[in-house]
Amino acid sequence: QATTANELLGHPKGLYVCFLTEMWERFAFYGMKALLLLYLTKYHLFPDADGYVLLGTYAGLAYALPLIGGMLADRYLGMRKAVVFGGLLLVLGQLGMAYTGHAASGSVDNATRDNTAVQVMYLALALIAVGVGFLKPNISTIVGRLYSENDPRRDAGFTIFYMGINVGAMLSSIICGFIGEKYGWSWGFGIAGVLMLFGLAQFLLGQNHLHGHAEPPDTEKLRARRFGPLSTEWMIYLSALVAVVVLQQVLQIKLSFAFLTALAGGHEVTLTEVVATAMGLGLLVWFVWFVSKITPAERGRMIVLMVLIVISAVFWALYEQTYGSWVAFTDRTMNPDLFPQFVRRDGSTTMPWSTMSLVLIPGGVLLAMRIQGTAQKLLLGLTLAGSLLFLLHDILIVPQNAGSLTFLGALFVVLLTPLFAWLWPVLDRLKLNPSASAKFGWGLIFAGLSFGVLVLAARSVGADGLVSVWWLVLAYLVLEIGEMALSPVGLSAVTTLSVPRVVGLMMGAWFLASAFGEMLAGRLGTLAAMDPTTERSQALLTFGNSFLVLMFVGLASGVLMLLLTPMMKRLTQ
Ligand code: GLN
Repeated sequence: QATTANELLGHPKGLYVCFLTEMWERFAFYGMKALLLLYLTKYHLFPDADGYVLLGTYAGLAYALPLIGGMLADRYLGMRKAVVFGGLLLVLGQLGMAYTGHAASGSVDNATRDNTAVQVMYLALALIAVGVGFLKPNISTIVGRLYSENDPRRDAGFTIFYMGINVGAMLSSIICGFIGEKYGWSWGFGIAGVLMLFGLAQFLLGQNHLHGHAEPPDTEKLRARRFGPLSTEWMIYLSALVAVVVLQQVLQIKLSFAFLTALAGGHEVTLTEVVATAMGLGLLVWFVWFVSKITPAERGRMIVLMVLIVISAVFWALYEQTYGSWVAFTDRTMNPDLFPQFVRRDGSTTMPWSTMSLVLIPGGVLLAMRIQGTAQKLLLGLTLAGSLLFLLHDILIVPQNAGSLTFLGALFVVLLTPLFAWLWPVLDRLKLNPSASAKFGWGLIFAGLSFGVLVLAARSVGADGLVSVWWLVLAYLVLEIGEMALSPVGLSAVTTLSVPRVVGLMMGAWFLASAFGEMLAGRLGTLAAMDPTTERSQALLTFGNSFLVLMFVGLASGVLMLLLTPMMKRLTQ
């Protein structure tokens, strides 16, 4: 009886606390991404190329810092404190963005561009990146700790958690994307901040469900005074704030070394990219040293894991185009309204109903944790059905825009997850289950194919001179099949292939590869850079050519992975 009281739907209640916290964190992160490119180019008048590169460096920073956030939590803070601190920084960052969006409303031109607002924006981006660094790796580690070593529910637990990530991403694209463009950028950014605050309150209220799994490893050491009256804990918090101020500057610094510029395809390299590259090289040096000291069997598996991690960067570089060149492509060549026949064109404003899901889902889950039996199932069923109805309303009735259509990615993840959860065991029973590296190969091939869809799209202009938005839907479907073959498989490969004592660090390495992917994505995005006033036929040509290049990148690296598969199999045996 004691165990069921601590469980909901057969999983520890702590899982749902983590699910909701990560849902809000991803809501803030992806809401931001859905808006950022359009905000930079339309509002702050950034040239396309600068917009793509800033989007890439900021998001890259957010994925590089988990390496440090994870290590600090492992050694000193513990996961719980790191999550709370990261959450606070995220709230501040989103409110900072809301301020910049509000500072100079109305039409802006180069003369009236508000420089303070731009500086606050960089500060906000740095706050968010550091906040993600403290929160994201640690909330994922807590999930792992809720289950004992051989608990068969562990994989299912991670699948539920991955759904939380994508429910957050889906709702934020729709809600922030719509509200940001319709009611003003500051509302779009601000709502993410307010909701992150709810997420944080929810985590604080639910922390007893973590049963001490996320506490600091050594409280004495953490409280010990290090520097005058300052304890280790306060030293960490203050250093993080100093880091925010430093990163605010770092995000803006470009290096003008001719050879680096040439290497990056003619656009200046940012200091952020250099810092992340240094982190990557440091990690590689450590890796070579580490694998020289372990047994041959362990070494083979660690090398395979490292190859998977490195190649995943190529996948994310393609994947992250969805927030860059795909958004610009949708904005400039499509009418993003999916179902125009349902839209009342009387100019009346409407709110996305999904906003109500933001109350319904946490409310339903939290309430369900307190009750038992049939009432609990009924409540969860109603929560699910209600959320689906709200979503359907938004897709059918609310006019879509380029930013909000990024929700398609997360939607397909949510829809495809059950299919893949069913597919892998079936293939396994038929003895056809591909190895992780083969799955990565297919993931890359599907990513390449999704760009192939857009190449066709750019050549299929309708009578109205526009491209049908259904091409975008198809491209997302194909891309997400790729994500399902790669992203969850990669997370699980980290936990199974790594030598156990460095699994936290390898998780950081996995996210660092996403960081490189983001930054590379910014660079590859510049292939599609153009003056926003470019005539549509010319724009289609530029988009089409850049998508063709990326299609070949995906196909070639996917085929390479498939060719490497037999060798990787030998290494893991
Ligand atoms: N979509 C997943 C998330 O947001 C994975 C992203 C990544 O690793 N680049 O957590």
